[in-house]
Amino acid sequence: MSYKNLKILFEEQSLINDISGILNWDMATYMPENSRRQRIKQITKLYDYKKNIFNVIKKNEFFNKVNEFELDKFDKINFELMKNKFDYFNSISVDKLKKKAELSIECEGLWREAKEKSNFNIVKNSFVKLVKSIKEESEILSQIKEKKKYDCLIFKYDRSLDSKQLFKIFNRVEKFIKKKLPLIIKNQKKIDFHYFLNEEDQFNLSKIFMKQLGFDFSRGRIDKSLHPFCGGGTQDVRITTRFTEEDSFSCFDALMHETGHALYEQGLPQKWAHQPIGSAGGMSLHESQSLFVEMQIIKSLPVSQFIQQILKDKLGKDPNVWSSEVIYNIRNSVTPGYIRVDSDEVHYPLHIIHRFNIEYKIIEEDANVEHLPDLWNEEFSKTLGLDVHDDKSGCLQDIHWYGGDFGYFPTYSIGAFIAAQLACKVRTELINYDLNLKEGNFKPIIMWLRENIHNRGNFLKIDELLEESTDEKLNLKYFENHIIDRYIKKEI
Ligand SMILES: [Zn+2]
Repeated sequence: MSYKNLKILFEEQSLINDISGILNWDMATYMPENSRRQRIKQITKLYDYKKNIFNVIKKNEFFNKVNEFELDKFDKINFELMKNKFDYFNSISVDKLKKKAELSIECEGLWREAKEKSNFNIVKNSFVKLVKSIKEESEILSQIKEKKKYDCLIFKYDRSLDSKQLFKIFNRVEKFIKKKLPLIIKNQKKIDFHYFLNEEDQFNLSKIFMKQLGFDFSRGRIDKSLHPFCGGGTQDVRITTRFTEEDSFSCFDALMHETGHALYEQGLPQKWAHQPIGSAGGMSLHESQSLFVEMQIIKSLPVSQFIQQILKDKLGKDPNVWSSEVIYNIRNSVTPGYIRVDSDEVHYPLHIIHRFNIEYKIIEEDANVEHLPDLWNEEFSKTLGLDVHDDKSGCLQDIHWYGGDFGYFPTYSIGAFIAAQLACKVRTELINYDLNLKEGNFKPIIMWLRENIHNRGNFLKIDELLEESTDEKLNLKYFENHIIDRYIKKEI
């Protein structure tokens, strides 16, 4: 009975998240300018309702009343995941959570101004306060869970990871990339290309690909926003994007990335909708699905051939100008740079390792965040070999830390490694893999992902899931092979 009550309460909590997701989407797309203040009130009100649900659970001691031996395998996992969520809310007082939420909103607002003016000092004091509250939170969690402070923060985004594993993984990847980079850069083909797709063409091309990939427009939609994201609610995935005419494909590729996230959400097990076990299996897995679509499929040579065909057949573009070779090469060039979101996939893990090292220093070694730009710049030259000249292209480029997210960055790269491993398995299991890609027949691949990943929600930890779907735990050799195949043994 108590477990049944818990399921009802967790469903209520999930529905509140859905409402919040739609309100947030509306705020980023169509909400009138002067309605912001009212909207923030509405969204924070929902936060109170969520807290009330956890208070009901606490008051009735539902967790203590459940007899775990009576639960089947899946309910047991669901129960464990419920406990994780509850433990977090139970460990941190309401006042502390509210305080952190307030500090995050304030800090994020100042960050926008600081970034625009490229001046960390504007956000400094607010950031110091926010970091202090995050460190307090990690300290409390660390004592309760008897884990490292930083590991408690990672756990919020991915229950499969900890810093010990990450140091080992990132060490190997950093060495590999630094060793291969000179050859990759030398191999670069210089492409002189000065044609552009206008916004309408980019939008049409993207929609054709979204349909082809199996995005269900009857349970989701695409709109324009200043900052692209994938949000919404259960059975209602909202993707937003932004098109710039100076770059024909960066928005298209970004949209394909978001489509990967969306396909995962649309493919989660319906039977477990609104239960923790039916949600996504952590941020690394989520990112693996977006990067699978973006990097493993859409940026491949066979799909570049399909893009050429669609541009010719549906948008009337000259295939001599818009050739698959150009389409492939301009989207796979490797150049060092300061900005993570503009980075190619070879440099990308270095940007993540750089942030991971800093986060670890801040949380575990009490690095002074008043001097964040110095710390950032020093570490940047160590990991990426470039001297940072301003805060905008340095420590102010990403929103994460200023919104209170520490421990999130590593999931981006773990996602890339998982995606490469999955792609290798799919390639061996499906016949005519490349031919299907060339013809835009993504269905068999997406079906494989549905069956092996999407349908399994949050049933398993990463290594368990990979063992079941690829017969081995996370193995970095697949990512390394992918980099070698695409950038060293270049096909064209
Ligand atoms: Zn993503």
